Amino acid sequence: MGACSNARINISMKGSRMSRVMIQPADYQTCQEAVDKAFELFPLDIQGKKVLVKPNVLRTAKAEEAITTHPAVLRAVIERLESMNPSELVVGDNPGVFTYGANEKAFSDTGLTEASQGHYRNIGAESREVPFNPEYCDTLSVSAAVLDADVVISLPKFKTHGLTVLSGAIKNSFGILPGAQKAQLHKLAGDPGRFNDLLVDVFRLRVPDFYIVDGIVGMEGNGPASTELRDLNLILASDNAVALDGVIARLMGVDDPSQVRFLATAQKAGLGEFSQQAMEIIGELKPIQGFKLPPAGGPFRPGGEKIREFMESRTLLRPQADPDKCTGCGACIDQCPASALAFDEELPKVDPDKCIVCFCCQEMCPEQAMQLV
Ligand code: SF4
Ligand code: SF4
Repeated sequence: MGACSNARINISMKGSRMSRVMIQPADYQTCQEAVDKAFELFPLDIQGKKVLVKPNVLRTAKAEEAITTHPAVLRAVIERLESMNPSELVVGDNPGVFTYGANEKAFSDTGLTEASQGHYRNIGAESREVPFNPEYCDTLSVSAAVLDADVVISLPKFKTHGLTVLSGAIKNSFGILPGAQKAQLHKLAGDPGRFNDLLVDVFRLRVPDFYIVDGIVGMEGNGPASTELRDLNLILASDNAVALDGVIARLMGVDDPSQVRFLATAQKAGLGEFSQQAMEIIGELKPIQGFKLPPAGGPFRPGGEKIREFMESRTLLRPQADPDKCTGCGACIDQCPASALAFDEELPKVDPDKCIVCFCCQEMCPEQAMQLV
């Protein structure tokens, strides 16, 4: 990882009511500095409050795979929060799309239990029903720790995502749902376009108060569990998810974030604005040279108007197991919400008529053997 440098800070003041997004150089050795700066720029009333910190723990993985928020970033956030005297500090997430039992293992394998410094809790163990969009289902079960928190701090990972283009602040909130609901929602959405809209509905169940993004090592290409990593050496922070995800999109090379369906939906719902004129950038917003969008994100490059149709298409992309990497563990078959996978001569094969293109199999494969073709 590159060392933290004193990069030029561009501050454009556009009015006090605008959303602000911090882009700060950092590395994992010295990220405390960037995290402290984020807390200084976005003061939070923490003293005597119940605080929930939610990293992105997609599944069990090694920290260096960059699939999850890095423990160094979580550790820096916890150090800072402990000094602010909350009445309760909980670190938790709901990894996986199907299972309830893998929470402890996912946190310990990634090094996040240790980084939580005694504040980790399996937040999937206790949940409460809340009303949801009846277009999909009347109620959802949300982790009680999320609902009970006075302050929710989200720690997304800077990653691409085949279904949503990017996995940032809004996508990180999908993890407030324990267990199999996530898989059921993929199925209820039925296609990638509706899933993007549904994601915004889940986000609205409890909009976090603050976001710090681990963009020190980012993921490009076939995210959210790709092997293509990039040293970006950035920590981002904001108090508005739409502005923040708009900035992530631009850093990834998406000129027009309105082409990212969930962002367009979130802005329309009044959750924030992604236009650069509507936000104050604290730092330098410069698209990352040659950043690889996920396969479905290809049309974002010049001529990006085709992206919406592309993302909503159910015929262009299908998962396929790489015979050189697949160990035949069966996790993808177990976790497919549409029961679209079955072994065929020791390799999982997809039934295209059943597949709802949710990419859960790709997310969950521990060998990163599922390719989108
Ligand atoms: S989860 Fe990955 S390694 Fe396991 S069977 Fe599926 S493709 Fe193969
Ligand atoms: S095969 Fe993969 S992409 Fe298709 S429905 Fe199953 S988990 Fe989703």
